[in-house]
Amino acid sequence: MRSEKITILGAGESGTGAAILAKSKGFDVFVSDYSSIRANYKKMLDARGIPWEEGKHSEDIILSSSLIIKSPGIADSTSIMQKVRKQGIPAISEIEFACRYSQSFMICITGSNGKTTTTSLIYHILKNAGLDVGLAGNIGSSLALQVAESPHSYYVIELSSFQLDNMYDFRANIAVLLNITPDHLDRYDHRMQNYVDSKFRIIRNQTADDMFIFWNDDPIIAGELHKYTFTANLYPFALDKKSNVKGYVNNNQIVIETNNENFNMDTQLLSLTGEHNIYNSLAAAIAAKAVNISDEKIRAALSDFTGVEHRLEKVARVRGVDYINDSKATNVNSCWYALKSIPTKIILILGGTDKGNNYSEIEAIVKEKVHALIFLGVDNSKLHNFFDRKVAIIEDAGSMQEAVDKAYNVAEKGQTVLLSPCCASFDLFKNYEDRGNQFKACVLNL
Ligand code: ADP
Repeated sequence: MRSEKITILGAGESGTGAAILAKSKGFDVFVSDYSSIRANYKKMLDARGIPWEEGKHSEDIILSSSLIIKSPGIADSTSIMQKVRKQGIPAISEIEFACRYSQSFMICITGSNGKTTTTSLIYHILKNAGLDVGLAGNIGSSLALQVAESPHSYYVIELSSFQLDNMYDFRANIAVLLNITPDHLDRYDHRMQNYVDSKFRIIRNQTADDMFIFWNDDPIIAGELHKYTFTANLYPFALDKKSNVKGYVNNNQIVIETNNENFNMDTQLLSLTGEHNIYNSLAAAIAAKAVNISDEKIRAALSDFTGVEHRLEKVARVRGVDYINDSKATNVNSCWYALKSIPTKIILILGGTDKGNNYSEIEAIVKEKVHALIFLGVDNSKLHNFFDRKVAIIEDAGSMQEAVDKAYNVAEKGQTVLLSPCCASFDLFKNYEDRGNQFKACVLNL
């Protein structure tokens, strides 16, 4: 065993994977979680003889480590991280650690919205084309665990800003930056620039062999570009063709410009609907072309991708009314895209734990398309202050059952009931999955 001691803070998916990889590389590993560790992770650690603790942080052990691998869920402001910093112990993310032991091709996706969808879509294209590919980051099993026990030649990795914050030497062969809108500002001293800087860490260490794919028309991204010197090849995408843009829509066709023949696909054939999914599909198609997937295979995968649960997920049609579960819309921007993507009048269910939302972003589209608003939360006062008198029908609900019943009562044939809450779910639900599952169960019981 190496004498070097590594402590893993947080024993979730990423922490457990990091511990297993560190152990397999011969480090002296310790895992510490301030809350309780799920039984399956304890079992994985025990099976490999890795010591762990829960419900506390033993500082004598942690602060005598030479490296900390930190779960993205642990903020720098926590007392333990303050002490780690004071001692000058380097703290890195699980992805950074895993990359030290992998030569595989890394396709990394970040952005405020659309990460899971685009990551899953790129994975779907590569997997269906027969590549040896793993899915990692915020989804699937951790990168570290895969690198330790079932390595792949390619990885498609969803990266949150929290993961990027503790990444330094990592290099993305393909980096995708989908968009930047305000989110998680509580973790960034309420300074938007800090959050933006974090997102841009995805291009660190890229070389002339690499690619940077980004949304050309995002005002925040556009405003940052002049601050960086890019060595990677730039692949901006946009809805319209412009001179610098490499992926766009022209005559209802998705077009990806390449050195040889352009890739084309009818937008009607895309399985994912909505303008935001055009962006996601453009980004995915550029990445797929870059790893030489054939046009036919890209077209096939973009048209048979079934989508990701809780993201504009069609649940049922009941008495001529469609019900759509977009529980993952935890910020205002994603709700805007959901409203935009639905052609009918909408009964919108929204509310929950507010993250400092500014509802003026959806005011115009709500006035145009919303038939009724149903506020689902413990405290709906901010929603009332903003929307009262702007929409004819407004109801309050204290549970999902009540929200769905009220939506059912006010919906007219041909309309759509949309759960797209703009908010986190923790006031009434365990998480956004629980909220979406309750919605689906209530709808299927109508
Ligand atoms: P993330 O992983 O970044 O949270 P998801 O793919 O889980 O993103 O989608 C989260 C929410 O954002 C969903 O409501 C989805 O419909 C919406 N969304 C997906 N792609 C985009 C995009 N490119 N721009 C804006 N909203 C999007």
